Amino acid sequence: MKVWLDGKLVDKADAAINVYDHGLLYGDGVFEGIRVYNGTIFECDAHVDRLFDGARAIRLEIPLTKAETVQAMRDTIEANKLVDGYIRLVVTRGVGMLGLSPFKCTCPQVFVIADSIQLYPAELYENGLSVIVSSTVRNHPNALNPRIKSLNYLNNILAKIEAVDAGVQEAVMLNPQGLVAEATGDNIFIVTGGELITPPLAAGTLAGITRAVVMRLAREAGIELRQTNISRYDLYTADECFLTGTAAEVIPVTTIDGRTIGTGKPGPISRQLIQAFRDYIKRNT
Ligand code: PMP
Repeated sequence: MKVWLDGKLVDKADAAINVYDHGLLYGDGVFEGIRVYNGTIFECDAHVDRLFDGARAIRLEIPLTKAETVQAMRDTIEANKLVDGYIRLVVTRGVGMLGLSPFKCTCPQVFVIADSIQLYPAELYENGLSVIVSSTVRNHPNALNPRIKSLNYLNNILAKIEAVDAGVQEAVMLNPQGLVAEATGDNIFIVTGGELITPPLAAGTLAGITRAVVMRLAREAGIELRQTNISRYDLYTADECFLTGTAAEVIPVTTIDGRTIGTGKPGPISRQLIQAFRDYIKRNT
């Protein structure tokens, strides 16, 4: 595999980052995880926009234009003959001193990794995931806003550890107010009384690219959709629940903290949107 690093395509074994890079020392940087379907970068502009917005929020100047960033991804796809897979686009603060100040780091690093993707087994799309609600709350937006897809994922990793310890695949994270924010690497939706509900971005959640597509598809299908706060009780008593994300796409959830959601099988709106999302990929790649 070839990695795009600082303008060059290098072998995976040679793709190295300096130990003084603040991306490594402090998790100082931003990234995107992006799907490639049929050789096409899925929702390319939305990912690039989110990367640049996150960088702006942390005062990180990406040393490429948006067009150059897209070209770097295209070159990586081409060099690896990637047809269906995943690309990881990363911008680190670059090499600096051991102190925190990012202003001593003069050369942000950009790299692009192309790889195959680890998918959930097909069976889970038929039967649904089991998840827990983690005791680790999502970062407070005034500490590290979850809208910034930063290289510091420790908050999510701590919740993921709870999920693995509990023998399930994912954890739902609440915000500091005790309301549902998102899962460790996915956004969350519930269906209650025929209405589709997802927490607003203000609940402390990433503006997921998959979330945005699913919301659009739901509106087009005439499904009632509301962005409103949901509590743990709303999760437990929902008729349906599903997660959305680049890797998982749209995946149903049928157990939360040992409570069966709805009938225990993915419900009709979840199934409709899983199909609509698959059709959307086919139409757009
Ligand atoms: N929330 C978090 C915390 C994430 O890391 C991700 C991406 N893996 C998502 C939501 C889903 O976002 P997207 O649909 O853009 O992949």
